[in-house]
Order: sequence, then structure tokens, then C-alpha cells
Amino acid sequence: MEVMADDYDTRELLRPLVFRLHENVPEIVREVLLERGWTEFDKEEQDDADWNLYWRNSPFRMTDHHSIKPWQRLNHYPEAVRITRKDYLARHLKRMKGAYGSALYEFSPVAFIMPNDYVKFIAEYSKERQSIGRRPSYWICKPVDLSRGRGILIFQDIKDLVYDCTVIVQKYISNPLLISGYKLDLRLYVCVTSFCPLTIYTYEEGLVRFATEKFDLGSLDNICAHLTNTSINKCGASYEKYKEGIGCGCKWTFSKFRSYLRIFGIDDVLLWQKINNIVILTLLAVTPLPVASNCFELFGFDILIDDKFKPWLLEVNYNPGLCLDCSIDDTVKRKLLHDIVELLNYKQIDTFRRNQVAGTKTGRRRVPWSTAGQGAAEEAPGLLTRRKVAKCPSASSVQPALQAARESIRKVATLTKKSARVHPRKTLTSQLRERMNMPKIPSQAEAKNKQLPGTGHSPHKSAQLNHWLPTPNFCNYKLTTRPYFLSDKDQRPIPRVGGFVLIFPFNEAALQASRDGTDVKSIIKEIKKLVSKQLPSKEQNTKKRVGYLTSV
Ligand code: ADP
Repeated sequence: MEVMADDYDTRELLRPLVFRLHENVPEIVREVLLERGWTEFDKEEQDDADWNLYWRNSPFRMTDHHSIKPWQRLNHYPEAVRITRKDYLARHLKRMKGAYGSALYEFSPVAFIMPNDYVKFIAEYSKERQSIGRRPSYWICKPVDLSRGRGILIFQDIKDLVYDCTVIVQKYISNPLLISGYKLDLRLYVCVTSFCPLTIYTYEEGLVRFATEKFDLGSLDNICAHLTNTSINKCGASYEKYKEGIGCGCKWTFSKFRSYLRIFGIDDVLLWQKINNIVILTLLAVTPLPVASNCFELFGFDILIDDKFKPWLLEVNYNPGLCLDCSIDDTVKRKLLHDIVELLNYKQIDTFRRNQVAGTKTGRRRVPWSTAGQGAAEEAPGLLTRRKVAKCPSASSVQPALQAARESIRKVATLTKKSARVHPRKTLTSQLRERMNMPKIPSQAEAKNKQLPGTGHSPHKSAQLNHWLPTPNFCNYKLTTRPYFLSDKDQRPIPRVGGFVLIFPFNEAALQASRDGTDVKSIIKEIKKLVSKQLPSKEQNTKKRVGYLTSV
């Protein structure tokens, strides 16, 4: 068959999206992207910037962030570890408690970082022991940078506390919600598509993880009764066994758990609202992070619910586990990954990588048209792919789309050129603004005049500016498209994508307070209003219900 010149143009412009995986990335990530018709990056064959998504288990170098191209996304935000290391998280939450009151920030169990807080811990421990009529607390000791339940110890008597690395000693929630006598916690997936402006999505499906032995405070060293980590329980003797009320294995989906709660008259919507508040308040505690564009972070929030239906934050995971241990994992995680790709909002423009790669190396292969997968059409509505083109009655019918595509490339190129001409020499402020990809920040005097009476000075804003110090590299950092997570229509974050629900910004005031830097104080004010509206319509008779749940 003869290839027409226009068809050739189509092949050159419309190529499949390309993913790049670093070592040890779970296989399911590759599977999902291939299912969607993406192709894998080949370092030997392709240009360095000829990819759309780079996924790795460890943080990227700042140079990776600075050299990001508009069509690319990275799966980590710089310094996200500030919230995922147990001691950092404890410190941030403590600071927020001090600044904004314990009423709002009392969702994380009291914690001490050892050995630094040893004296404070002893004081608290002794105070409890001396108060008559008070049952002494149980404590859990966790190494700060380990995961999967490794190195954890639960104790009541200080003589049992031993550690040989930095640990946090946290109050052990000794009255967890039990189903048929088994302890459980929730693995909630949270995707932050931007820290500036703060944009948070929670995934409505998730995993309920059960301990596989019955909860018993009399046997604190039975890890299968006290820890809900799958890595521990899947090796336990009861994992495969049918457990009354729970079933085999150690997992449920959120959907199953929520229907279960509803059967017993528990207001699961209220519970989820409280959990969403925890997510927002926790992420606010680590803002500002250094400004970076076109990256996202998938966090795993571990939430424990007590027998009064109060949710507690246990920890936040970096790279939440994506291994498939059972069919429930497969259902939840596969769909989660598909929805993440949807959330990344790839557009037609993202297939035009080659045209925009500065200094493209000649002689290198680009992803050829012929390897384009079938699923690419589903990546983003309107993305013109081989399948779509093939379905078209004639090449001429793709002309308007192609024309529009070429036009947008031309516009981007012209804009970039223009801005280079308009600002031949960059001032420090203009560079900062460019890097922040934000409108001009008012000068101090302007800001003072603008400040509402009574709002005072926000320490967070000035702290944020300290992070925006120019680096030699950031002049290369040009954002030629607007942020990927915004909807086309009104330039606001897309409210829902697949199973992802936007939880922040949750109203107009929160949106405004997160636009020019994060105004934590104003956001907290809005959250307080929200919380007061979220009070339960009727008091739940928790005691009676817990009785039902535990005996089922
Ligand atoms: P890791 O990173 O090792 O998984 P976690 O903080 O998630 O550490 O703790 C592991 C498990 O221990 C949790 O899934 C939960 O079952 C239990 N756990 C942790 N902290 C507490 C706590 N403060 N109260 C009750 N149970 C806890």
C-alpha cells in the first residue's frame, strides 16, 4: 500500500506514550501501562527526554526535576519523605498541634522520638504510673525508617523497652475496632498531584488489612494478633484458614467494609469525612515542599479505627506496596494504577515529544509508529492514536485534528521564543517567579496593605520563600503548558477521575488560600468550619454497635 505524505506526518506526530521504570518497580506498573498501549523506554535507542512517565521507588535527583519537560511526569515529589519517615511525621504533627490546637490535631497517637525524647518519655510514663486509678498505657516501639512491621515491639512495662537505632515510641491504641475479634486497619491511597497549589485526591477503594489471630492484650508478643501488616500475616499459621466473620486471607476491600458498617447502622460517610480531614491536615503539616512541577506522589495512609469509631493516623507510606498477594490486591491495585494514569491527564500534546526535545540526538530511534499500542486511545479523551486514525474513513478527516496539533506546537514554540526575547536578562525575582510558575508575589509593603485585618503574618509563607532559592539549573526549567491536573474548562482541579476524588481544595476559600503559596492559617480556619458542619446527625450508640461487630 502506498504511504501518503499526510499519513507519514500522522505517524511522526502521533506516537504512543512511553514509560520509563527504574529497577525494582513492581511488575504491575509495567503490566498496566502495557495494557494501556504504552511502550517502554529504551535507554540505548531513544532520546533522553523521549518518555512521558518515569516511575521509581526512590526519590529523583533535583536535576531530574529541573530538567522536566511539559509532556513528562515523575512519580515522586521532592522531599516527600518529610511525611513518610515516622520521626519526621511525628515532629511535624507535634508542631501543628502546638500551632493550631490539639482539638484538630489529636488524630495521631502521642509519640516520642528515642533516644532524643527519652527524658520526656520517662516523665510521661512515670506520671501515668503515679496517677491512682488510671490503667497504665500500652506502648509500641517502631524503628523510624523500617517498614512492613519489621523491628516493632509492644510493651507496657518500661523494662521491656529495648532499641538499638532511632525509634518512635507511640501510645498503642489498645481499644481497636474488632471484627469477630480480629484487629484491622485501613490502607488508604492518596495522590497529591501538586503541593503548590495543594491538590489532594483520595482513592475511594482501598484495602482493609486484618490481623490473622484474635486480638489479646495478654499476649503482646503475638505479632499476628497485634500487627496488621500483610507481610507478617501472610506468613502466619491462620492466613490460609477460613476465619469466622473474615474469611480466608487477611484482606477486604473498602466497599465490603463500608457495606458491613452500614448493616450495623454505622455512618460510614461521616467516618470517611473524618479520614479525609486527617489526610488534609497531615499534608498541610509538611507544606511547603520545594516547588516542583509535573510530579505527583502516591502515598499509603495507614488508618486505625478504635472502638468508638475514631480514626487514628498510624503512618504514611512512601511507595505503598503494589505487590499482588491475593485477588483483592489485583482488583484494587490494578484499577488504582489505571486511574492514576487517568489522573495524570495526558493529552494529545504529550505524544509530540520529539518536536519539543531540545538538542535531539540525531541517529537515535524514537518510538516508531508501528509499535503504537491499542489502548492509547483510552489515555485521554480526544487523544488521536493509530487505532482512531485507522478507524477514520480517510486521511483527510484527520486533517483538522492534525492541523490543530501542529498549531499548538507552533504556539508553544512561539511563546517560548517570545518570552526569551521579552526577558533577555532575568532578574532574581523574575527567575523565582518563573520557577514557581506563579503570578507575581506582592512586595512586602503590598502584602501588608492587602492583608485582612486580624489575619496576622503567616510564618509558613516566609518559610516557603526560603525554599525557593534559585539553583544554577532552574533557568532550564520552563513550563510551557499549564499544570496537568487542571481541568480545561475552568482551570480548576478535576473533581473526580475514576476512583479518585478531589478532597483538597474543598471549597472556593481553600482554593484561593492555596493558590499563591499555601496559606495554612486560612485553610485551617476553613477546615474548622467544615468539621463543625460534619458533626453526626444523630449520636451513634457505639457501645451497642461495637458489641454487635465484635460478636459477628
Ligand atoms: P510499618 O511501617 O513497619 O508497617 P506501622 O506504623 O504501619 O509500621 O505499624 C505496623 C502495624 O502495627 C500497623 O499496621 C498496626 O497494625 C500496628 N500499629 C502501629 N502503630 C500502632 C498504634 N499506635 N496502635 C495500635 N496499633 C499500631
